Amino acid sequence: MRTLAKTKREPGIWMVDAPKPALGPNDVMIRIRKTAICGTDMHIYHWDDWSQKTIPVPMTVGHEYVGTVEAMGDEVRGLAIGQRVSGEGHIVCGHCRNCRAGRRHLCRNTQGVGVNRPGAFADYLVIPAENAFPIPDDIPDDIAAILDPFGNAAHTALSFDLVGEDVLITGAGPIGVMAAAIARHVGARHIVVTDVNDYRLSLARQMGASRAVNVSSESLESVMKELGMVEGFDVGLEMSGVPTAFRQMLEVMNHGGKVAMLGIPPSEAAVDWTKVIFKGLVIKGIYGREMYETWYKMIAMLQSGLDLSPMITHRFDVKEYLKGFETMSSGKSGKVVLDWS
Ligand code: NAD
Ligand code: ZN
Repeated sequence: MRTLAKTKREPGIWMVDAPKPALGPNDVMIRIRKTAICGTDMHIYHWDDWSQKTIPVPMTVGHEYVGTVEAMGDEVRGLAIGQRVSGEGHIVCGHCRNCRAGRRHLCRNTQGVGVNRPGAFADYLVIPAENAFPIPDDIPDDIAAILDPFGNAAHTALSFDLVGEDVLITGAGPIGVMAAAIARHVGARHIVVTDVNDYRLSLARQMGASRAVNVSSESLESVMKELGMVEGFDVGLEMSGVPTAFRQMLEVMNHGGKVAMLGIPPSEAAVDWTKVIFKGLVIKGIYGREMYETWYKMIAMLQSGLDLSPMITHRFDVKEYLKGFETMSSGKSGKVVLDWS
């Protein structure tokens, strides 16, 4: 079968032939139809410090996908051959304290599809059947292919009550923009998104931001004044991984504000902790998606009118995968979808 894999310890990704993966009794084999490129795939593509430390070579990458059930192990129940599925990319151990309590997103033994074990950029993917998530017929393939990052956005944005609240989102990458769409959908008041990339800020505006602010040329404080925000933001969603963005968030949060942090900073970063202490801020770290509450909520939001289609700005046949990676690299894209069919 075809795979997109890291086969050399250097920048790049290569299409190589590999044997079909083996199927265990509790596994499902998925015939991949569409995949999307994640920021993580870009780190692996560029072979940055994190990838050099984390990714065994060779490794088939990718974890954003939709496909159909091709085969199932003998023990699998509740799925059918031919059924359309996407899947949770975090494979958990099932025996740690959090797994046993049903808090599987907090499993300390999590393995990542396309990071620690073979990924979805392949004609066939094998995962534990419990990780497969059935896709209702009214959700198109392109949207089903981006449920993984939409789930990061949903897990973060739905961590705190947003109804009637003023929300600051730092970082208008695909996840930040989808978080803005969720905040709009569930009834936030002002949704201010910051970035330094005008292409992405215009996508944020299109997806529901009240104001999209290029912090390299416009002051966030003046935007707040314009919106009549006297006291500060009620909820902050950090989705850039850039320390200056987080520091700026701490400045403009109201007292008692709540902050959810998804963005991954490249290294340790200093902040003024007195802002956290004297403002009585609540800070929550976010990893992945809740299994599987986030997945149910994503489907429900899509079915109740949240339209993610503007997020998919580029589509390529998988033969042109390098164009896809270059498009993601350019910063002038939302999600890029590769077609394997
Ligand atoms: P992305 O890199 O596409 O988006 C980050 C955005 O931040 C970019 O558009 C960038 O221009 C912007 N930015 C740069 N400087 C800024 C500044 N000073 N102020 C505001 N914005 C600034 O990433 P993404 O795919 O949307 O993911 C968002 C973040 O979440 C990344 O850091 C990613 O690594 C992380 N992530 C975390 C998890 C998790 O489970 N915790 C999962 C997926 C992604
Ligand atoms: Zn566990």
